[in-house]
Amino acid sequence: MQRTFDSEQEKVDSKLDIITTMNRRHFLTTISLSPVFANDYFTDSNDIYLSYQEFVTLKVLNKRLKRLRRFIGYGNFNIVSFKDALFYGRNYSTIGLFTKDELALVDKLFLENPEQYGFFGTKTCTDINNKISAKDIIKVPHTGHYLFKGKPVEDYSKLKKDIGHTLVLTSGVRNVVKQLSLYCNKLYHNGGNITQASIQIAPPAYSYHTVSDFDVGRRGWGYKNFTDAFASTLEFKKMKKLDYISMRYKKNNSDGVRFEPWHVEVI
Ligand SMILES: [Zn+2]
Repeated sequence: MQRTFDSEQEKVDSKLDIITTMNRRHFLTTISLSPVFANDYFTDSNDIYLSYQEFVTLKVLNKRLKRLRRFIGYGNFNIVSFKDALFYGRNYSTIGLFTKDELALVDKLFLENPEQYGFFGTKTCTDINNKISAKDIIKVPHTGHYLFKGKPVEDYSKLKKDIGHTLVLTSGVRNVVKQLSLYCNKLYHNGGNITQASIQIAPPAYSYHTVSDFDVGRRGWGYKNFTDAFASTLEFKKMKKLDYISMRYKKNNSDGVRFEPWHVEVI
């Protein structure tokens, strides 16, 4: 029976599912030949990939993190510490224990120097168990996101005043688990290509969301807020003229991160 897919993403997920059940030789052949990957990805032979075993582990880890997010809620997932994530895994069977292989992969992704993958950003977090204290953040109503008190909160409210109510917070404070989860998801959908994943999102120890920065978008724009298209919005054009904030990842930035017009650098 022919399977039908609700979305392009589901189609990709399904192919990735098939690939992770193949043996190693088939995996490598499929990765290099599959039309799923015949876009911008997988074109540079210098790109660095996870091993086949790590890719299989990544799939399991990715799903566990998604179960954790569902269990503790989207808002809490932004700030939960790694230590607490392990606690939830140990104590709630709906999430389940993080395996030894998963923990080894987390260590690798958190501790490795990403310069080998072409990422040259600054390390923002040295402790995998980094805690974000409730007294240091505020929850921004109707967004599911938090901001650090002080300059980030001040900047965001000034932005709302200067740009208008169509500007919304699309991502704020992210602790290690949240950044890890975004990174793992990106890595998974890039077929384990660490080089490509690191261009699209900062590795778990290198996100400025863990210390100050936040993302904004145009109300009602959904995922388009995280594409170049955001640079064509009136909101972005107004934002560019303001001097109290900056853009962290400009075109051709020296960190090796793609152009991210939505990412506000708190200065
Ligand atoms: Zn961002």
